[in-house]
Amino acid sequence: MGVRNGVRARNESAWLLPNDGSRTNHRLRQDMRRFADGDEIDLVIVGCGAGGSVLLQRLARAGWRVAALDAGPFWDPDTDWVSDEAGSHHLYWTDPRVIAGTDPVPMGSNNSGRGVGGSMVHYAGYTPRFHPSDFMTATLDGVGADWPVSYPELRPYYQQIEEELPVAGERWPWGDPHGYPHRPHPVGGNGEVFLRGAARLGITAKAGPVAIANGRFGNRPHCIYRGFCLQGCKVNAKASPLITHVPDALAHGAEVRPDAMVTRIAVDERTGRATGVHYVSGGRERFQRARMVAVAGYSIETPRLLLNSASARFRHGLCNDFDQVGRYLMVQGAPQTAGRFDAEVRMYKAPPPEVSTEQFYETDPARDCQRGFSIQTVSPLPITWAEHVAAQGHWGRALREYMSDYVHWSCLGALCEFLPLPENRVTLAEEKDSYGLPVARFSYSQCDNDRALARAAQSVMEDILAAAGADEVITIQRYAHLVGGARMAADERHGVVDGNCRSFAVPNLYITDGSVLPTQGSANPALTIMAVAARAAGYLAAGASGGTT
Ligand SMILES: Cc1cc2nc3c(=O)[nH]c(=O)nc-3n(C[C@H](O)[C@H](O)[C@H](O)COP(=O)(O)OP(=O)(O)OC[C@H]3O[C@@H](n4cnc5c(N)ncnc54)[C@H](O)[C@@H]3O)c2cc1C
Ligand code: SF4
Repeated sequence: MGVRNGVRARNESAWLLPNDGSRTNHRLRQDMRRFADGDEIDLVIVGCGAGGSVLLQRLARAGWRVAALDAGPFWDPDTDWVSDEAGSHHLYWTDPRVIAGTDPVPMGSNNSGRGVGGSMVHYAGYTPRFHPSDFMTATLDGVGADWPVSYPELRPYYQQIEEELPVAGERWPWGDPHGYPHRPHPVGGNGEVFLRGAARLGITAKAGPVAIANGRFGNRPHCIYRGFCLQGCKVNAKASPLITHVPDALAHGAEVRPDAMVTRIAVDERTGRATGVHYVSGGRERFQRARMVAVAGYSIETPRLLLNSASARFRHGLCNDFDQVGRYLMVQGAPQTAGRFDAEVRMYKAPPPEVSTEQFYETDPARDCQRGFSIQTVSPLPITWAEHVAAQGHWGRALREYMSDYVHWSCLGALCEFLPLPENRVTLAEEKDSYGLPVARFSYSQCDNDRALARAAQSVMEDILAAAGADEVITIQRYAHLVGGARMAADERHGVVDGNCRSFAVPNLYITDGSVLPTQGSANPALTIMAVAARAAGYLAAGASGGTT
């Protein structure tokens, strides 16, 4: 069986989409199985994003009675998404959150999404693997943490997900060297600048890996290089769970319940087992019974939900007897450097990240810090470009001049491996949201190692753009990609779940999203989140410790 047929036998999502020019299989959604609240289903999943949807699809295939509840809508790309930056803000989770610490992280469009497909609906589509070293940074570098899972244990799930998205890119020489199922996409103007500058400095840079169909894939069409990946791909060329895992889940009897905000996980005080979830839908409070519960609400909302599910038995929050919930939340330092060229670059004409280097990913004894960074093209659209220029202090006439010069600019971004620190955490704030629930308070402070990495990355990016021929270079400081907050560990004193994503405190409660990651590397996290969820699903489907213990 070829790769494509192998994928189809495992996950038919791309073939379940319509091939008549529309983007949504309405019949599949209309005919979707619907469970009653009183049914004790096998598994209820909170959140239908990267982690939740993979778990949903895998267990529906295994014959489980499974439903995913998502706080946001069931998107239809034809009617809900627009080719307009300003008109795409409804894709983001913009509920209030309190930020604190010495280096607070702004929350909003750059953090998480709301709705079926999760943050991957508006993610940039870049899907590198973590390096083997990311799974043992404490042992190798004396910082961070060792995972209870090794890279070789995750490798087969990386391969499966890369085939299902599918991922296109050049053969990857870093970390565990590997190829991709689709050949790399043609490189746009921004990628050409990166490749030119890197080559002049002797830095290796490569095209890919992007989770964007290169050629037709099932009924999904080829990318048309319109650069709107961060606004939701109306073409269906960019992978998101909405099109890569949800259709197959529905076809195998799963339910996706949109506009259902889970407010609390219920636990039987006598047995200590989860019994289902309280949620609000259509203004009504409801309760879904389930034999098992999985939480996949993203790094901020997952710890918040656990803390908001305190009870007489779990007085300080669910799974929080050892004060681990919400801790070790990580965000990558993401300095962004732009360079101006006399020739037109037109950086919007391609997927935003499409060329990168991981040459600086590992600890380098020549640097004054541990771990490393990657560099990728980022290609902001005009509003995001205005934010870059304004963050540099340009305003009024100068801002207008930078804006009208937009087609001449190239932009690179770094992802720096900021370290997991216990004091960087989510707690509950005094403020309440529209459901009357305490909102998340996220406190974040950088350490010296973080700052040293950001400085080193900025210097390399500025050198690359100068070497490519830029006559002006400007850098701003940003953050990207939150992970951690309910990390996996060897025991309950160091984390919230074990290596199979099962919580230490409640035997039938799992967490299968980015919050379980103990370290973040300098890779974008979505592929790893999906691979971790696929591995947990395999463990559950095999009945290793099932839901019944
Ligand atoms: C602008 C941007 C660009 C990005 N680019 C990339 C990239 O190029 N590559 C990459 O690898 N990663 C990228 N990411 C990150 C990536 O999208 C996330 O890391 C990933 O989607 C997180 O997966 P998750 O399962 O933890 O959460 P999500 O995918 O965010 O899913 C969480 C879901 O849970 C729902 N939810 C939350 N709380 C509740 C509740 N109480 N009740 C019901 N539902 C709830 C939400 O509505 C959401 O749908 C990007 C993110 C952003 C914001
Ligand atoms: S660049 Fe390609 S993947 Fe991105 S939005 Fe456009 S068509 Fe979709």
